[in-house]
Amino acid sequence: MSATTIPFSTQVTVSLGERGYPIVIQPGLLGEVGARLKGLGAKGKVGLVTDRTVARLYAPEVMAALRRAGYRVHLITVPSGERAKTLAWMGKVLDILVKERFERSSFLVALGGGVVGDLTGFAASVYLRGVPFVQVPTTVIAQVDSSVGGKTGVNHRLGKNLIGAFYQPRAVLIDPVTLQTLPVREITAGLAEVIKYGVIADPDFFQYLEQHISAVLKLDREATAAVIRRSCEIKAAVVGADEREGDRRRILNYGHTIGHALEALGAYRSLIHGEAVAIGMVAEASLAVHLGYCQPDVVQRIRTLAQAAGLPYRLPRVSMEKMWTAMQHDKKVVQGTVYGVWPVRIGEVRIAPVQRDEFRQWFARVRKE
Ligand code: NAD
Ligand code: MG
Repeated sequence: MSATTIPFSTQVTVSLGERGYPIVIQPGLLGEVGARLKGLGAKGKVGLVTDRTVARLYAPEVMAALRRAGYRVHLITVPSGERAKTLAWMGKVLDILVKERFERSSFLVALGGGVVGDLTGFAASVYLRGVPFVQVPTTVIAQVDSSVGGKTGVNHRLGKNLIGAFYQPRAVLIDPVTLQTLPVREITAGLAEVIKYGVIADPDFFQYLEQHISAVLKLDREATAAVIRRSCEIKAAVVGADEREGDRRRILNYGHTIGHALEALGAYRSLIHGEAVAIGMVAEASLAVHLGYCQPDVVQRIRTLAQAAGLPYRLPRVSMEKMWTAMQHDKKVVQGTVYGVWPVRIGEVRIAPVQRDEFRQWFARVRKE
């Protein structure tokens, strides 16, 4: 029996009243996408949106599953990577939906990483003022983060994720087996968000990661399913308590204030998102010690786990002024005040402002170390 046919299924629920939905985590689930859509009441036509890389790897299996369940499938393929997350590519997706006369009840299926999920969700939110869609995420980032929570959208030439909508999927169908083809660097980067969940919400999960990180990196079946499940539970709980980014949802931004600043500073284009978040988490924990919110052992544990996961954790050479300026551009900045998410201990964070002077003092101190 191949790995993909061993039954092992677990489910998490996103509780948002009538917009609530299940997250199903199950090796081999790609082969059941058709049956799952039946269960959701989908009829007639299905638009399968994916990118070129994922199309080559997984579209045949998903198309076959959809056809077995009696659906007519239109495959819609966009380029791989961030360059497809534009209004122009969304326009092309919409063109096909119009030409093929997709109806209000027609489902879209987003098969791929966060780019495909964000783009497809946004297209689903506007076509005929909203058609149902299902997420079938195939990257770590998408399986533990972007497919859950209903943030959809595209980039603008002048900034990431500036155009979008809150629009929840009808279900998230996660097949962890798809991660086997993902480049190691992408797996590792995705683990930064996983470590983040431990820091912001669950000391036991953080400890589990400390003990099992090498199994997770090898995509061991049990460890992978456990990590995806707990990550989805934490994100679902945060989103369930705060669908549209009030204070509660902001805790998900831990590691991202400095992480985004590093990404924004042109010189560090070499960092991918999760890597920048890893450096951001360690730096923000260290800043939290400076601000008197937590003890140094918290920084030590986060740094050690990031290192064990193969993530970078040292602040690159960058000027204090440039960093501070880049931090001002964070979406979560309110009227010029930078709000950070600070660990109090592993498993608990608080949100509080940081002043330029405090940042400068901390920066000078870590530069000397
Ligand atoms: P991605 O979708 O670009 O995927 C990364 C690369 O992996 C792509 O080249 C893709 O073709 C390839 N790929 C995907 N699945 C594969 C597989 N199973 N095997 C081999 N290759 C595969 O990027 P991502 O890292 O998945 O997501 C990043 C995007 O998600 C960003 O645009 C970010 O803004 C967004 N995001 C959104 C949210 C949200 O809440 N909506 C949260 C986090 C990130
Ligand atoms: Mg992130």
